[in-house]
Amino acid sequence: MNSRSAIVIGSGVIGTACAYSLARTGWKVTILEKNTFASQCSHGNCGFVCPSHVLPLATPDAIRSTFKALLKRDSPFKIRPGLRFSLWRWLWDFAKRCNERDMLETAPSIQALLNASRRLYEQLLTEENISCEWQTKRLMFVFRTPQAFDHYGEINHLLTEKFQAPARKFPREELIELEPALKPDIAGGWWYEHDAHLRPDVLMTQWRKVLTEKYQVRILEKTEVKRFLRREQIAHGVQTNQGEQSADLFVLAAGALTPFLNDHLGCRLPIQPGKGYSLTMNLPEKAPKIPLIFEEDRVAVTPMQTGYRLGSMMEFIGYDSSIPEKRLQYLKQTAARYLHDAGTGPVLETWYGWRPMTTDSKPLIGPAPALKNVLIAAGHNMLGLSMAPATGQLIAEFANQQTPFLDVRPYDPKRFG
Ligand SMILES: Cc1cc2nc3c(=O)[nH]c(=O)nc-3n(C[C@H](O)[C@H](O)[C@H](O)COP(=O)(O)OP(=O)(O)OC[C@H]3O[C@@H](n4cnc5c(N)ncnc54)[C@H](O)[C@@H]3O)c2cc1C
Repeated sequence: MNSRSAIVIGSGVIGTACAYSLARTGWKVTILEKNTFASQCSHGNCGFVCPSHVLPLATPDAIRSTFKALLKRDSPFKIRPGLRFSLWRWLWDFAKRCNERDMLETAPSIQALLNASRRLYEQLLTEENISCEWQTKRLMFVFRTPQAFDHYGEINHLLTEKFQAPARKFPREELIELEPALKPDIAGGWWYEHDAHLRPDVLMTQWRKVLTEKYQVRILEKTEVKRFLRREQIAHGVQTNQGEQSADLFVLAAGALTPFLNDHLGCRLPIQPGKGYSLTMNLPEKAPKIPLIFEEDRVAVTPMQTGYRLGSMMEFIGYDSSIPEKRLQYLKQTAARYLHDAGTGPVLETWYGWRPMTTDSKPLIGPAPALKNVLIAAGHNMLGLSMAPATGQLIAEFANQQTPFLDVRPYDPKRFG
C-alpha cells in the first residue's frame, strides 16, 4: 500500500476503471473531467460486454465492404475526411492493416483484454455490490440473407479454430422459437454464450458511488486539462481551466480527445473519433429478450431491464456533435425490418458518442515514452466498456511496478512512433 497521489484525466469507463484499480491499491486518486462524470462515449453505448468481438475492424474484407456500404444511400458508415490530414493519414494506416496477417496478429491481444474483463466484471459487481442491470443472456448475430448467414460460418470456423470462441448456429426456425420477437423473413443467427450486457449509465452512476464513498476518490467536473507541467522527464502537475493540480502519477484516459493532450508525451496517438448514435425507449410490449446485432445493417438492439436501446453507425467525420434525424430514422427503420415490435413509444434519449478509434483496433495502455510518471489508457475503439476492468488492472500494475497480468507489448503506446 502507498500514500501517493494520482490524477486520472477523463471519467469515462476507462478512466473510472483506472481510478478504481489505483484506489484499491492505496493511491489517493483525483479524477479531472472536462464535462460531467461519464457523460461522453461511456454513457449511451449499447452496453455489450462481449468477448465474442475478437476480430479487429481491419479485416481483409473491410475495404471492399466499406466501399460497398458507402455506395448505399442509407449506410451505417460515413467517411468525410475533408482537409483533415490526421484523418487521411489514419484512413491510410487503417487500410494498410486490412489483411489476414495483421488481423490474426491483432486478434489475440483484443481477446486477452475482453476475456479478462468479462471475468473481472463479475468480480467487480459482486465485491462492490453494483446493480447495473447486468444480464448474462448472451448475444445473437442475426442475418437477413442466406449468403451472409452462411458466410458467417467461415468466420465462426476461424474463431473456433484459432481463438476457441465458437458461436452456436441457429437456423431460422430455431432462432424464431428462441426469440419470437424476430420476424420470420430472416435467414438465421449465430449465438455467443459468454457475452453479457448491462446498462452503461447505471454502471457509471453506481461505480462513481463506490469510488467516492468507499475509496475516497475526488471527482472534479468541468475541469479541463490543458497541458502537462513538467520538469525534465517528470510531470509534476497539469494546467486546467480551474488552475493547477499536482500529483505523483498521471493517467491519461481522455477517450477520443486524447490526441489533444499529446504534447510532451513523446509518442504519436493516432486516435480518431468514430461517431455512433443510439436511441433509448421504454421496452416495447413484444421486446426481444436477448441482445441482438443485425450484422448486415450494423444495428444493435439492447433490451435492458429498464429500457430498450438501438445503436449503430460508424462515421469518420471529425469531432461533429450533431444528431441528424435521418440517422435516428435509420435505427428505427432497420429495427422494424427485423422485429415485430421495434418500439413505437416516445424516445427517451437520443445520443451520439465518439469512439476512440486507433488504426490497429488495439488500445494504447502503458507509459508515455517522454514522461516517466504519465500512463496512457486510451483508444479502446468499439470495445471500451468490454475492456475497461482489465485496462484498469494493467494501469495499476504499471503504477505499482508489478508484473502485468497480461502481455502488454501489443498495447505499447510507442508502437506508432
Ligand atoms: C453507438 C455506440 C455503441 C457502443 N457500444 C459498445 C458496446 O456495446 N460495448 C463496448 O464495449 N463498447 C461500446 N462502444 C464503445 C465504448 O462506448 C467506448 O469504447 C468507451 O466508452 C470509451 O471510453 P473512454 O473512457 O475511453 O472514453 P469516454 O467515455 O469518451 O471518456 C473520456 C472522458 O475524458 C474527458 N476528457 C477529454 N479530454 C479531457 C481533458 N482535456 N480534460 C479533462 N477531461 C477530458 C471527456 O469529457 C470524457 O468524459 C460503443 C460506442 C458507441 C458510439
